[in-house]
Amino acid sequence: MVRIGGRVSVGLMILVIPAGCHQPGSSSNFIDRQIIGEVLMHSEFSANLRELCVPGGRLSGSPNGHQAERYVADRLVAYGLESVHLEPFEMVTWRDRETKVTVLGQPPHVVEGALSLGNCLSTPEEGITAELLDAGQGSAEELAAVGETLRGKFALVREGGLHRGEKMALAVEYGVAGLLQVSKLEDRARVGQCHPEPRPQPGIAIPGAEGARLAERLASGEQIRINVRVLADAWEAEPNNVVGEIPGSGRLAEEVVILAAHLDSWHLAEGALDNGSGAATILEAARALAAVDWQPRRTVRLIWFMGEEHGLHGSRAYVRAHGDELDNIVAVVNVDMPGSPRRLSTFGHEEVMDFLRAVNADLRGFEISDEIGNASWTASDHAPFMKEGVCAISLGGDCGPGVKYYHSHGDTYEQVDRRGTVQSAAALAMLVRRLADIPQRPTERLDPVALAEKMGWDRD
Ligand SMILES: [Zn+2]
Repeated sequence: MVRIGGRVSVGLMILVIPAGCHQPGSSSNFIDRQIIGEVLMHSEFSANLRELCVPGGRLSGSPNGHQAERYVADRLVAYGLESVHLEPFEMVTWRDRETKVTVLGQPPHVVEGALSLGNCLSTPEEGITAELLDAGQGSAEELAAVGETLRGKFALVREGGLHRGEKMALAVEYGVAGLLQVSKLEDRARVGQCHPEPRPQPGIAIPGAEGARLAERLASGEQIRINVRVLADAWEAEPNNVVGEIPGSGRLAEEVVILAAHLDSWHLAEGALDNGSGAATILEAARALAAVDWQPRRTVRLIWFMGEEHGLHGSRAYVRAHGDELDNIVAVVNVDMPGSPRRLSTFGHEEVMDFLRAVNADLRGFEISDEIGNASWTASDHAPFMKEGVCAISLGGDCGPGVKYYHSHGDTYEQVDRRGTVQSAAALAMLVRRLADIPQRPTERLDPVALAEKMGWDRD
């Protein structure tokens, strides 16, 4: 109320109060406060993460994987989302049952903690025996330097630099018997995809300390022969992507904002950081958005993809099945190991930068970087969308010291920075709400060929 000289000024009241009511964003600030309050006061993030972790790794198409799909779908129904359903797809899934690396000699030494990398088939019963050569980091130049001498031998490479799949593809061209990849973790092996589909050349991850000892012996001129034995299964599986919606209303309801995370993990440990944490983060964002007093203009679609770890199978299947809807997707916000929120990025859609700067200003309290990233990495479920020209956005974060355990036997619930990560749920809900409500969509779908050229992506 405005008082002038002790008397209420009706005229000014009329001027002032409506101006306050119609201030852009005032009701929207109220919804933000509801979202943040909902997440901080009633968070189910940790409870959901624990439920997803308890059975162990959620390998695509495995009983644990299917159990996780049902769990997420049940929570979505309980939270009041609509159109909750499963979308099945087919893929070849894989796991190793036994991986053994023996350094031959007197006496022979069995490498502790060796694990097969994804999609390596079983070796013959007696294993593969060959000499080991050091190929440094396994860069294209280093592999070329050892070149033809690799034929029929194992290459010792270090984790980092090129993706392990690229190293393997290059080494296979030189006729390598297989790869030993030295993990950055001293006492554990870190796995990951190594062949695009099941293939016979073994790729084996070994703990850093074991790798350092082998490298030292090779550097001293010693000739080392190893025997690698893998027992692995690869089989046709039918996992499901899990989908739920908060439907839009009015003329923009046909347009869609996607918030996605992969639900599958490797078969090791609990797949807690990668990506139980992302799956539980978007579940919490969904819960909060459904709980507050909000009717979106555009449809908000939440998707939990399976098949990510074996090569983005779930998101690729989704993009194939929904090709005629891609023009209507305003943005895909993909959440993979979110941690505590640090930085918003787009993937080549510079048109969305102004919008993201405005979001950033509203997220100031989360201490997010002022700079908006323009990323080009392709190793998660945003990639199949962005390669079709759809705008992809990520909210990158800091997972804390536990991050080192992703893709290893150490990836457990205790390693997740749960207080930090829950902030990502609130921030993502605020981001998604803005994408769903902004009157004019910030960017259209771009020409995929031109975008791939600009960003240096292969269009596979
Ligand atoms: Zn992941």
